[in-house]
Amino acid sequence: MRELFSLPTSGELSLDRYTLEFLADALPHQIWMADARGHIFFWNQKWYASNGLLINKSKGLDWEQIVHPEDYPAMRQTWQNALVQGQDLLTEARLHTSEGNYRWQEIRGSVRRDIEGTILLWVGTVTESEERKQEELTLKAREENFHLFTELLPQLAWVTRSDGFVEYCNQRYYDYTHARPEQILGYAWRQLLHPEDYARVIATRHLSLAQGNLYDIEYRLRDCQAGTYRWFLTRGIPVYGDSNQIIKWFGTSTDIEEQKQIEENLRRSQERVHALMESAIIGIAVAEGQTIVEMNDALLQLTGYTREEVEQRSLNTSTIMFPEYTSRDQQALQELATNKQITPYETTYVCKDGSLLPALVGVVALPHDPQQTIAFVLDNSDRKELEQRKDDFMSMASHEFKTPLTVLRMQIQLLQKQRARGEAHNITPALAKMGSQVARLTKLTEELLDVSKIAAGKMTYAREQVDISKLLHELADTLHQMYPTHTILVHNAAPVTLIGDKDRLEQVFINLLSNAIKYSPEANSVEVDLHPSLETLTINVRDHGIGIPRAQREKIFERFYRAIASEQKALTGLGMGLYISAEIIKRHGGTIRVKSELKKGSTFSVTLPLVMPQES
Ligand code: ADP
Repeated sequence: MRELFSLPTSGELSLDRYTLEFLADALPHQIWMADARGHIFFWNQKWYASNGLLINKSKGLDWEQIVHPEDYPAMRQTWQNALVQGQDLLTEARLHTSEGNYRWQEIRGSVRRDIEGTILLWVGTVTESEERKQEELTLKAREENFHLFTELLPQLAWVTRSDGFVEYCNQRYYDYTHARPEQILGYAWRQLLHPEDYARVIATRHLSLAQGNLYDIEYRLRDCQAGTYRWFLTRGIPVYGDSNQIIKWFGTSTDIEEQKQIEENLRRSQERVHALMESAIIGIAVAEGQTIVEMNDALLQLTGYTREEVEQRSLNTSTIMFPEYTSRDQQALQELATNKQITPYETTYVCKDGSLLPALVGVVALPHDPQQTIAFVLDNSDRKELEQRKDDFMSMASHEFKTPLTVLRMQIQLLQKQRARGEAHNITPALAKMGSQVARLTKLTEELLDVSKIAAGKMTYAREQVDISKLLHELADTLHQMYPTHTILVHNAAPVTLIGDKDRLEQVFINLLSNAIKYSPEANSVEVDLHPSLETLTINVRDHGIGIPRAQREKIFERFYRAIASEQKALTGLGMGLYISAEIIKRHGGTIRVKSELKKGSTFSVTLPLVMPQES
């Protein structure tokens, strides 16, 4: 029968047909051979055994008879292409089996040529691939189902190979990114990552690919049309094949932009609340009902209570309220109940050590839980002190004005009486007394005017040559005549000149010297010394008087401030002189400092540049 098959006649074939067929039959594989035109002239024994077709029936058997009709058209096309191009064949199709059904087989064919390249014959194999094919088909079906399913998802979905190569993404992915397939598939999607997220995402992806871990990461993905980014939460899981190897990764990316915005807003508002709580500017307390549950550092510092006391909830709002203010506080609590807030009002808190803290307090209740309240507390002591200082100033100022006016009125009455009696021949002493009172009033008025000029920034300065040592000597003489109780000793009489405003500097030294005399009633001398340097001149005015308490040494330069000690009450004044002096010295580019020892005396040191700065 076999001789019915004809071997190609042209070319060289080193093996004879029978030997070739014998060899093919001996192999455990399915072998076929076809002539140059593709006509199969030989199937080996294994083939017949596998495919169950009788040898005699196989005569002239061709692919069409054994390939599943559904697979035949594709198979024929591939076979014809191979024939035309003279290229090796590799295809897959369902072939008829000895069990009467079809099974997937892999068909390979190699072309055999003679030395001139003319095709002699085709030798091929058929290998059972049913299992692998079924696995592939199952996976394909699973993937198709997955693709179908992903189209229903509100998320972006994707499938990658085990190495991360993106094979598929759902329509929503395209819809959001407005990218073309070539901008997403493969590894191209990486270009859609936000540059700040890129390195982190790639590193995480590599790690999860290498370790087969769940891939779970947040990143920003670009909308190519708008050029904007949105945050996505991406999760991917590996899919394992039968051999327990990762064959795919399925994943979704969920738009979390809004969540991120909410988180960001929350973070920002927490940051703001934190900054407010941490600020040393304002005291803040949080209360639940009457119990104080939180106090910031600023308030703890102001009141002296401790964080532990707050944490142990041992403080309540009534502990820190000053009993005298209860009625005003009651009114405030009433306002809180009705309006869910208290308009800032002045109250007094009781500190831990029992001292009182004047405070400005505003309170708000949380809208959803009015039992929770937040109080904002400002230290009101400075304002209270200023108010007190102003009150004191008003009473002292009236006193300071009233005394000379009373003297003037008395002197006028005296003169009128003398004239009425015809005794007005010696009016000189009365005029002298009136003159000094007018001078006192003039000085007071000028000082008040200076204070308001300083406040309005309208004080003007001359620039002239001032011989300071000469000025101090003259002042020493004048003041000694006015206050003979004290001698003013000016050391270092060498002439020292500087550029400044002579009248204003004179005003400073009159103030310092007359203070030195006024505040050393028990002493009889005041010393002045001058220390010139290359660029500056320092003048020290030293007295042996009552001294200034340490806590008040800075404050005496403030407006209307008086360091009031009991023994000083008789020493009248309005607290304007040093304020004006400090301002004048500042405008000359200089400084004024004080050193003092209680009951021993004070030294005021003025340092002036030899040339007053131009801007003054
Ligand atoms: P006044 O003397 O009119 O009160 P000043 O502004 O000149 O105003 O002084 C402010 C305060 O500084 C004084 O009230 C006094 O308490 C204190 N003071 C100023 N000079 C001296 C001094 N030489 N010795 C002690 N206290 C002084």
